[in-house]
Amino acid sequence: MDGRVVEELSRIVGAEWLYTAEHQLRTYESDGLLQYQGTPACAVLPSTAEEVQAVVRLCAREQIPWVARGAGSGLSGGALPVKDGVLVVLTRMKRILEIDLDNGRVCVEPGVTNANVSAAVGPGFFYPPDPSSQIVCSIGGNVAENSGGAHCFKYGFTTNYVTGLELVLGDGELVQIGGYELDSPGYDLLGAFVGSEGTLGVATKIWLRVVPSPETVKTLVAFFDSTHAAGEAVSQIVQGGVVPGAIEMMDAKAIEASEMMANAGYPVGRAAALLVELDGAEQECEARFDEVVSICEQCGSDDVRVARDEAERQLFWKTRKAAFPAMGRISPNYFVQDGVIPRTKLPEVLERIEQLGEEYGLIVANVFHAGDGNLHPLVCYDGRVEGEADRAEELSGLILEACLDAGGSITGEHGVGVDKKKHMPKMFAEEDLDAFQRLRCAFDPDGLANPGKVMPTPRLCGEVPGPYRVHPLEAAGLAERF
Ligand SMILES: Cc1cc2nc3c(=O)[nH]c(=O)nc-3n(C[C@H](O)[C@H](O)[C@H](O)COP(=O)(O)OP(=O)(O)OC[C@H]3O[C@@H](n4cnc5c(N)ncnc54)[C@H](O)[C@@H]3O)c2cc1C
Repeated sequence: MDGRVVEELSRIVGAEWLYTAEHQLRTYESDGLLQYQGTPACAVLPSTAEEVQAVVRLCAREQIPWVARGAGSGLSGGALPVKDGVLVVLTRMKRILEIDLDNGRVCVEPGVTNANVSAAVGPGFFYPPDPSSQIVCSIGGNVAENSGGAHCFKYGFTTNYVTGLELVLGDGELVQIGGYELDSPGYDLLGAFVGSEGTLGVATKIWLRVVPSPETVKTLVAFFDSTHAAGEAVSQIVQGGVVPGAIEMMDAKAIEASEMMANAGYPVGRAAALLVELDGAEQECEARFDEVVSICEQCGSDDVRVARDEAERQLFWKTRKAAFPAMGRISPNYFVQDGVIPRTKLPEVLERIEQLGEEYGLIVANVFHAGDGNLHPLVCYDGRVEGEADRAEELSGLILEACLDAGGSITGEHGVGVDKKKHMPKMFAEEDLDAFQRLRCAFDPDGLANPGKVMPTPRLCGEVPGPYRVHPLEAAGLAERF
C-alpha cells in the first residue's frame, strides 16, 4: 500500500492503532473459520464513528477495498481480509451509550459484546439473541450476520431487536436508519442492512430492544437411544402448543466431545441429548414443564434430568455451548456447517447426513437448534491426511444440498461469507442475485465494502443489468411484477 495512504490512516486513528507489521496482522488473518486465510495491507482500530468515516472516505478516494471486523468469531469467513485492503477492526468501539429501560431500549457501539448488553441492562431485563459465542462476539457482527442463538426459537433473531442504526456508507457518508421506534416510515432499510455481512457499510451505533427477564426459567436435559426419538419429542413438544425458550439437540459424537470439556456427567454413548428450557410466568411454566417431561418419556427417554438450581442449569448450558470448541478433542480439524430445514424433516435429513458421513468415511457430529430446524453438522477431518480436507468440504456441500432438497436454506445464522457463496445459485436465480446486487450498489456504488463475499461471482456496480429479464417465478405464473 502506498506509504502516503498509510501515513494518512495513521493520522486518522493514531499510530498506535494502525497495524502493518506481519506479526500484528497475523491475529486478523481469519475469522472462526480457519480454512480461509488472508493478510490485509493494514488493520486500523478506530475509536469513534468520525474515525471510521475518515478511514472509509480515504478508501473511497483511493479505491482501496476494506473489510469491517468485529470479534472475528464468524463461521463463514465473512471478516476474511482482502489482500492489499484495509481491515477496519471495531473492537475499541465498546461503549454502552444509553440505557432507557422505561422504553426497553439500549444504544451501544458496535464492538460491545453480545453478553455485555444483557449484563448492562440486567437482571430485570435482557437481550434475547444469544449466539453460543456471546461472550466474545460483537453486536456489530451480530447485526451484520443477523445472528441467532439457542433462545431464538421463542424470541427471534437479531433483526427482531434492532430498531435503529448509525452507518458509515461506502462513500464515507454518516447516516441513520430507524431509531427508537419499532417501525420507521419508508422502505425497511434496517431489514436490508441486518444480515448484509459487511457489504453495505459499517454500523457505528446500534439501538436495540431489550425485554423484561422472565419470572422463572426451568431447564431439563433428556437422553434418548436415537436422534429419531429425540426429533419426535421435539415435534410433539412444539405441536402440543408449548413454546420453549430453547430446544437444543446433540448427537452421540457431540455429547462425547462436550462431556470431555464440560464434565457435566452426561452419559457418553447415548445417541441423543435434548436440552429444553421453558421460561415465563411461574405457574404456566411449571404446568407446561411437566408436559414436556412426559412427552420426553413417552418418546423413549429413560433419563430426564431437571436442573435443580441455577448452577446446574448453567452446567447444562455450558455443555451445550462447549460443543463447537470441544470438537477439537475428537478431531484435529472440522468444518462447522449451518443449514436450515423444516423441523418436521429432522429425522430424514439427520439420516441422510449419517449416510453421507459413512460414504465419505468421515465423522459428522450434530449439535443444533432443533426448535427452528437450524442444523450445525460438524464435519470432522484430519488436515494432515492428503485430500481429507477436500473430501470434508465436498461432504459439507452435499449436506447443504440435502437441506435445500428438504425445503430448507444454505444458512440459518452464520451467514454466507466467502464459504458458501458458491452455493448461492443453488438457492437463488440469476435475477435474484441481480436484485441483491442492485441493493448493494445503492449503499456502496464502488463495491469496496467487503468485496468477494456473499455474491457467487465478482460483480461490479457498473455491471448492473440493463433491461428487466423475466424472473422464472413470473414465467411460471407464480409471481407478478408491479
Ligand atoms: C464457538 C462459536 C459458537 C457460535 N455460535 C453461534 C450461534 O449460536 N449463533 C450464531 O448466529 N452464530 C454463532 N457463531 C458465529 C459468530 O459468533 C456470529 O456470526 C457473530 O455474529 C460474529 O460476530 P463477530 O463480532 O465475531 O463478527 P466478525 O466475525 O468479526 O464479522 C462477521 C461479519 O460481520 C461484519 N461486521 C462486523 N462488524 C461489523 C459492523 N460494525 N458493521 C458492519 N459489518 C460488520 C464482518 O465484515 C463480517 O462479514 C458462533 C461462533 C463460534 C466461534
